Amino acid sequence: MKKVDVAILGGGLAGNLLARQLRREVPGASVMVIEQSHERGWKVGESTVEIAAHYLGVKLGLSTYLYDQHLPKNGLRFFFDTDRRDATLTQMSEVGTDRPPPTPSFQLDRARIEQDLLRMNTEDGVDVRVGAPARNLDLDARTFALEGETIGARWIVDGTGRASTIARMRDLRLPMEAVHPIASVWGRYEGVRDFDDVPDRAWRARSRYVARSLSTNHFMYPGYWIWFIPLGRGVTSVGIVGEKHVFKRGSRTPEGFLSLVREHGAPAAMMEGARPLDLEGFTQLAYATKRFFHGGERWALLGDAGAFHDPFYSPGSDFISLECDFTTDLIRRELAGEDVTDRARTYDAFMQFRYDATLLLYKDLYPCFGCYDLMRVKLNFDLGCYYNLWLDPIVKGEHLDEKFLMSELARGPETLAALEHFSKLFQRAREHLVATGAYYEKNLGEYNVGVDCLRHWLEEVGTPRKRRQIRERTEEVFNYGRREALKLLGEDDGKTLRLDELVPA
Ligand SMILES: Cc1cc2nc3c(=O)[nH]c(=O)nc-3n(C[C@H](O)[C@H](O)[C@H](O)COP(=O)(O)OP(=O)(O)OC[C@H]3O[C@@H](n4cnc5c(N)ncnc54)[C@H](O)[C@@H]3O)c2cc1C
Repeated sequence: MKKVDVAILGGGLAGNLLARQLRREVPGASVMVIEQSHERGWKVGESTVEIAAHYLGVKLGLSTYLYDQHLPKNGLRFFFDTDRRDATLTQMSEVGTDRPPPTPSFQLDRARIEQDLLRMNTEDGVDVRVGAPARNLDLDARTFALEGETIGARWIVDGTGRASTIARMRDLRLPMEAVHPIASVWGRYEGVRDFDDVPDRAWRARSRYVARSLSTNHFMYPGYWIWFIPLGRGVTSVGIVGEKHVFKRGSRTPEGFLSLVREHGAPAAMMEGARPLDLEGFTQLAYATKRFFHGGERWALLGDAGAFHDPFYSPGSDFISLECDFTTDLIRRELAGEDVTDRARTYDAFMQFRYDATLLLYKDLYPCFGCYDLMRVKLNFDLGCYYNLWLDPIVKGEHLDEKFLMSELARGPETLAALEHFSKLFQRAREHLVATGAYYEKNLGEYNVGVDCLRHWLEEVGTPRKRRQIRERTEEVFNYGRREALKLLGEDDGKTLRLDELVPA
């Protein structure tokens, strides 16, 4: 029987990134990647945000490669339409950056990066097997069959995507359809119009001539959104994500998808003359897992093999980065003789906490998505929280410090209560805006750069900061969210509150 230290089932993005990280950080470990398919087709998961971009560029040393073979990204950008869905692009209100982002991120061609990572991993000494599935996994014996050969592994890592080999075997999957029922259809197109190819000089000047085409562009509607992501080499990814009623019979066919897009003036204009390359869809996006890591049984779940919530804000690859970091650390320690049972439990609890916190950004909030005035507040608020609470500790590597994690987990219920509170506040603001007929009032002609909460302290992110400093920033962001939402409700009391007053017990 062939034996390896780590067998990674699935050579998609997650499996390949873990293999690369292991070669760099645990060079003594023997690593095998098993990928069943020779074909590397397009996949969703194209837009990265700061945590994933930091992981890819800094931790995995892929910066030059990413600039060379993929596209730099100009942040997230959001456009808002009329209730008749007939505004032109330049009439629409917009939230999006007017400068190249301070923290780089990328638009990935998934087929290309997976193919390249398989090659790089092979060159780095990973035993890469492509073309046959891992079968007959026995998690107790930690063996599986590969083309008639039995492979034994000290660690088994599941990167098999939605096939979710271990989750299904161990009954770990938690359905989320009742909690967050969101679906999606998407495809790749050639010949999509360029966001910057617009003769309106004032509109170009509004974002200081920053290339909007490099952003992840969202057209926002009540209950759903339409994305445009440039992949380079003339290909654009276009998708619709939304509540299930948005999708009709046939929406998952090229004609059905296009006819859905054509119900919206500006997205339809972007697609005029575009040629379809592929089309995919899922009727239910979110699912959770009872467990991500098991130190005693020496297994871990990465990426889609574990859990998924929602692609708004592109958190998928952020989660992959965290899971790879935790898995690498567990493997490194365990191979050095440490009992990692408890540490794996802590990492697991943190991933569950991150899952719950992220889900609160989306759950029950899709009806807000079509309103510029409300989403302006939510987008700025969420970005402030992301930089202050999630990105900052990860770029500093604090998430691998057990003491840090324990204190984050101790504060977890408070954080979740705060996010829940703001979610309810935004939902109440939406109800008010609908009731007063003001939901679409600001959807034309407005512009917001999206950094209202960050402007004066962006430079702090990633530097040593005291807990007090972080709390002060949280207080600022929460006060912003409260004040702006109350203004929309006509209830602004002009008060600035302390953190402990901001979230009712
Ligand atoms: C609509 C939508 C939009 C999204 N947009 C974004 C985004 O913009 N940004 C972002 O970061 N994330 C996004 N995501 C999430 C992202 O798609 C996932 O996080 C990511 O693709 C997961 O990668 P993975 O490697 O876990 O799985 P996969 O890419 O599915 O890879 C799994 C691999 O395992 C192989 N495999 C399966 N079974 C076996 C077996 N038995 N043996 C061997 N090999 C096997 C498969 O062939 C496959 O190659 C989006 C998701 C959705 C649904």
